[in-house]
Amino acid sequence: MKPLLRDINPTDWPALLAQQGFPSYRGRQLAHWLYARGAMSWDAMHNLPRDVRAALAAIYDASGARINERQSAPDGTRKLLLQMRDGQDCESVIIPMSRHATFCVSSQIGCAMACSFCATARGGLARNLSCGEIVEQVQILAADLAAAPFARHGERAYNVVFMGMGEPLDNFAAVAQAIRILTDPAGLGLSPQRIQISTSAPPHALEQLAAFELPVGLTISLGGTDDASRRKLMPVAGRAGVAAVLDAAARYADRVDRRATIAWILIAGQTDAPAQALQLAQLVARRPFKVNLIPLNRLDQSVLTAPSRERILAFQRVLIDAGIPAFIRDSGGQDIDAACGQLRRRRLAKRDSSEAQSH
Ligand code: SAH
Repeated sequence: MKPLLRDINPTDWPALLAQQGFPSYRGRQLAHWLYARGAMSWDAMHNLPRDVRAALAAIYDASGARINERQSAPDGTRKLLLQMRDGQDCESVIIPMSRHATFCVSSQIGCAMACSFCATARGGLARNLSCGEIVEQVQILAADLAAAPFARHGERAYNVVFMGMGEPLDNFAAVAQAIRILTDPAGLGLSPQRIQISTSAPPHALEQLAAFELPVGLTISLGGTDDASRRKLMPVAGRAGVAAVLDAAARYADRVDRRATIAWILIAGQTDAPAQALQLAQLVARRPFKVNLIPLNRLDQSVLTAPSRERILAFQRVLIDAGIPAFIRDSGGQDIDAACGQLRRRRLAKRDSSEAQSH
C-alpha cells in the first residue's frame, strides 16, 4: 500500500514539494486542503495544479478509508464502520457527552492483548493502523458530526479517546505521530487536553509514553488488583505488575499535571466484589487518580455478564466512602454493538456465513 497524505507531517510538505521541483507554497496549500478543508480526494483539491497532484498521486494515496456502515443509537451514539484499502474494517464511534462529542478511535485492526471480556480480542491482531489512517478516522468523524451536529449542543467541539479497537501503546509510533498531527496548528490544532490514551499497559508500554512530549490524558484499564487476578482477565497486559503499572501512571499524571483515570471493568462474579472495591481503593488512595467503573457490555453468548445495578452502586459506594472520585461509565449505544470490536465481529461473521452459503 502507498503511504497516505496524512502519514506525513503537515509542516514537512513545503520541503517535500520543493524537492520535487514545485514551489514550496504548494506544500502549505496541500496541508490547508488536508486539515483546514478536510479534503479526502485529489479532485477536491482543485486549485492545486494537475501536475502537482499527479506527482503526489504517484507516491501517495489521498485517502485510506471510506464509510461502509453507519449506525445510530437512541442515546445519540453513532458508530461508523470504515473500510480500509486492504478490505479490513475499522470501527470508530461518536459519543454525545454533556458539553462536547467524544470520538472513540481505533489504533489497530484487532488486538493482540487477548482480554477475556473484549470483542476485539477474539480475532487476534490483524494489523496496525498507520498514522494517516488514525488521523483520517478523526476527520471522518468530525465531518460526520459537522454534517449532523447533536441537538443538545450544536457545537462541533470534540475530544479524542483511543478506546476503540486495539492497544494504542502496542502501536505507539503511529499513535504518537497521529497525535502530533491532531495537535499541530498546521494539522487539526486540537489541544492535547482533549486527547486521551486508554491502555491495558502491557509490559514496557508506559515507558514509551513517559518519553512522549505532548501532555495527553492517560487511562489505565486495570481489571485486577493483584497480578494473578489481573492476568486472568488480561493475559498479555497482565504480565506487567499492577504496582509497577500504577507507579508509572502516577509519575505520568504528575508530569502532565492531570489525574490519570483507572478504568475498572465490572463483571459479575469476577470483578464486582466489595472486597475488591476496598483493595482498589487502597491502591488508588492519595494518588493522582480517579476511577471509572465500566459495567461489562455483554458479548453475545458470553458467560460473562454485567453485575446488577445494586452491585455496581455498592462497588462505587466503597470507593466514594474511601474518598476516591469514582464514576459509573455505562458504555453508550448498547443496542448498536458499541463495545469496541463488536460491530466488526458481527460483520465478519455475516461475511463468513454468506460465503459458506454461496459455496
Ligand atoms: N486497549 C486499550 C483501549 C481499547 S479498550 C485499553 O485496554 O484500554 C477500551 C476500554 O474498553 C477498556 O477500558 C476496556 O476494559 C473496555 N472494554 C473492552 N471490552 C469491553 C466490554 N465488553 N464491555 C465494557 N468495556 C469493555
